[in-house]
Amino acid sequence: MTDTPQTLYIDGQWVGATDGGTRTVTCPADGTVVAEVSEATAADTEKAIAAARRTFDSGEWSATSAAYRGDLLLKVADAMGERKDEFARAEALDTGKRLVEAEGDMDDIMNCFRFFGKIADQHPGRLVDAGDASVISRVVYEPIGVCGMITPWNFPLLQASWKIAPAIAAGNTFVLKPAELTPHTAMLIIDVLDKLGVPAGVANLVLGAGAEAGAPLSSHPDVDMVSFTGGLVTGRRIAAAAAPTVKKVALELGGKNPNVVFADADFDAAVDNALNAGFLDSGLVCSAGTRLIVEESIKEKFVDELVRRAEGIVMGGPFDEKAETGPLISAEHRDKVTDYVQRGIDAGATLRCGGHWGGPEHEKGCFYAPTVLDDCTSENPAVIEEGFGPVITVETFTTEAEAIATANDTEYGLAGAVWTSNRGVANRVSRALRHGTVWINDYHPYVPQAEWGGFKSSGTGRELGLAGLEEYREAKHIYENTEPAASGWFPQK
Ligand code: NAD
Repeated sequence: MTDTPQTLYIDGQWVGATDGGTRTVTCPADGTVVAEVSEATAADTEKAIAAARRTFDSGEWSATSAAYRGDLLLKVADAMGERKDEFARAEALDTGKRLVEAEGDMDDIMNCFRFFGKIADQHPGRLVDAGDASVISRVVYEPIGVCGMITPWNFPLLQASWKIAPAIAAGNTFVLKPAELTPHTAMLIIDVLDKLGVPAGVANLVLGAGAEAGAPLSSHPDVDMVSFTGGLVTGRRIAAAAAPTVKKVALELGGKNPNVVFADADFDAAVDNALNAGFLDSGLVCSAGTRLIVEESIKEKFVDELVRRAEGIVMGGPFDEKAETGPLISAEHRDKVTDYVQRGIDAGATLRCGGHWGGPEHEKGCFYAPTVLDDCTSENPAVIEEGFGPVITVETFTTEAEAIATANDTEYGLAGAVWTSNRGVANRVSRALRHGTVWINDYHPYVPQAEWGGFKSSGTGRELGLAGLEEYREAKHIYENTEPAASGWFPQK
């Protein structure tokens, strides 16, 4: 027996890394050690890819009925529900997020499994009119094959579930590589699949650094699709690494999301949701409303109230009941946010609140206080870059056209919101925004029934909704001539 952790799951077995490598996972709220896990090398990932390939190519898994796989996903949701506390605690310890937020994430994850469980056998294909009564022409959907999945640390299991559930529904096999800082809920969901008797090689898990354990998932010829959620720079790298094998690439990248507030909006609701948009989960949300774009006539009053409330937000660890927001993911990430805010100030922004790590009680953790940068222009790096922290920048507009132009003035296109009591304005602006999700008089809610994804540099493809299932299927046209006859194209000799 060995004390080396066995936390990789390859070909139906929990195993350690081949070179015995390990990583210590710590909680960013206070630096305490959460656990030691296996650190995979590229060779381990290649083994996982080989297992997924073998199982897929045997045809037994993809030949199971869609109804069977749908039922399996419903059972995953039920099994998770029975262990919800264990899942939520694991997520809270890895990410440092408040337990209540992690619990909310678990509800969303179970809903995701239920949604794909219910639609797994509902969209099998369609008959098409080939214009010939003797022809049966149909479009059927096949699984893509082996899917590589690479996920980030902010919503570790949520992002993985948006990939795992449709991949299983469609009959694929997969290798998941979660962010190295937050591996535990990935281990738990694989444990659920294992206990439910999912065949060896269908679900595989490798833990470790992106450049080592993750890289083969984009470059290996035996992977048919790579689905990535993470930052833009990594996304570009993954797309480039995938190009030589022309595999399918799905990218869910960052956002620089506008929250547009017109003067006629419900003031209290708009202020409250501007806080929620920017500071929920310490701003570590790809769709965070970090660009407040407010009508000039109410700007002063609006920002004064935003700042007053932001200053009152209490930071704390996952199990601190007084805490209203948690830490960033690591000291390195906190340094990046610190630098990002400073560059924003250097470029002319006015620091209205935050801009520091918190009080002495926050010294052990990677905290960053909710921050508002006022008087920003579209040239300010804090407006251009995804800071990925609890930082809201403030810009203004005077006309509807200017509001739209400002909100679209970003290379990203993930999400945005418009606040107004005028439904005409709301509908015009929501249609004009070049962002994948638009909220009217709200911020952040989403449902698994609706597609999620980005325009422009926020990504390619969609997760959730019907398109989220299509991502994991290939359409095939089958043309059957029921009365075969010579075509007569070439002369009979
Ligand atoms: P990241 O890009 O640094 O890492 C994401 C994952 O990629 C990790 O698992 C990492 O190990 C892996 N990785 C890194 N280099 C790799 C490589 N060369 N090959 C293969 N894998 C590699 O992102 P992050 O810092 O973990 O997450 C934050 C980012 O994710 C933000 O930009 C955020 O906006 C984005 N995000 C987007 C969505 C969305 O739905 N669009 C959701 C959540 C997060």
